[in-house]
Amino acid sequence: MNERLFYQDAYIEEFQTRGIRQQQDQKGNTYVVLEQTAFYPTGGGQPFDTGILNGIEVVNVEEVEGEIRHFVKEPLSRLDLIKGKINWDRRFDHMQQHNGQHILTASFVELFEIVTVSFHLGREFCTIDLNTENLSDDMVLQAERRANEIILENRQIETKWVTMEEAVNYTLRKQLSVSENIRLVIIPEFDYNGCGGIHPSSTGQVQALKVLNMERQKKNIRLQFICGNRVIKQFHHKHKVLQDLNKLLSSPEQEMTVAVTRLLQNGKHQEKIIEGLKEELLEYEARELLKQSIFKNGFQVMGKVFQNRNVKELQKLAKIMVNIDAGTEVFFITESEGGLQFVCVRGAKGKLNMKSIAAQILPLINGKGGGANQQHKAAVH
Ligand SMILES: [Zn+2]
Repeated sequence: MNERLFYQDAYIEEFQTRGIRQQQDQKGNTYVVLEQTAFYPTGGGQPFDTGILNGIEVVNVEEVEGEIRHFVKEPLSRLDLIKGKINWDRRFDHMQQHNGQHILTASFVELFEIVTVSFHLGREFCTIDLNTENLSDDMVLQAERRANEIILENRQIETKWVTMEEAVNYTLRKQLSVSENIRLVIIPEFDYNGCGGIHPSSTGQVQALKVLNMERQKKNIRLQFICGNRVIKQFHHKHKVLQDLNKLLSSPEQEMTVAVTRLLQNGKHQEKIIEGLKEELLEYEARELLKQSIFKNGFQVMGKVFQNRNVKELQKLAKIMVNIDAGTEVFFITESEGGLQFVCVRGAKGKLNMKSIAAQILPLINGKGGGANQQHKAAVH
């Protein structure tokens, strides 16, 4: 364990050491094993550290069979002297999220005896799964408030290596997953927990904790939350969205919901008005077209070719026409990029057999169609 500098001091950002060996894994990725390292490998829900070794980027750090492998972008040219530097922003962010999780989880235990069954530290958000099927918004608020109290109290965080025998002296939050090299992370009088992750030295450094979302899983409830700088980032982002909406809606923040509801209602109202106007327009168009209909061989016929006209609307138009004048026979064709579509509608007093006419038209435009004798449409693609 002596090679693990992150356990001696979580705040080591730069270090100097020697390489033990450099080789490739089965996938052909080059990795380096060091005498000592401040790079934390993925484990216990905490992602690995990134950074550089002799200026070469470290892209992944994994623990395999007890050794820490630093996967590098390209092989190091020397192993006798290695200067390492971890990406501190990333590491400290992980420390804030990880300890925030301990605090939130312990708050749920303290207040409601609800245990956490899993934890995920994601790039944007963290989640915990709580072993309960019922959780109210108020309970979440209480736990969040308790967590922020613990943060504000700035309690010292202790880490301790103990044996199995020593471990039984502590009221641990959950069963230990290892029987040797037991490491306890302790927030005095609040949380005693076996954990191999990296934590800040006091709760104040977690800065703040905010629960963002609650989602029901099969038998658990998943909470999404953020800590530390992520709270500031989120706040900034959300504030920007609100400010933009303020301007767009000319409405202060407190009245935003009312303003948006009003806007949606207005939209629906306008849609209804437009529908009504469309109907009126079709009626007007129908009467104009009827004036242009012609008499030929004892039939009153109206035929017209349209460009990019909705075929349903044309059906409606034709129906209005035959309702006004039951003796009319209507033939419409609409041309669009998709092809040709036609509509033929016979009035109640019409004499033409639309089905047979459609059957004659269809082969000409190579389409297919069906329907009653009085009305026909077809599409060609
Ligand atoms: Zn932990």
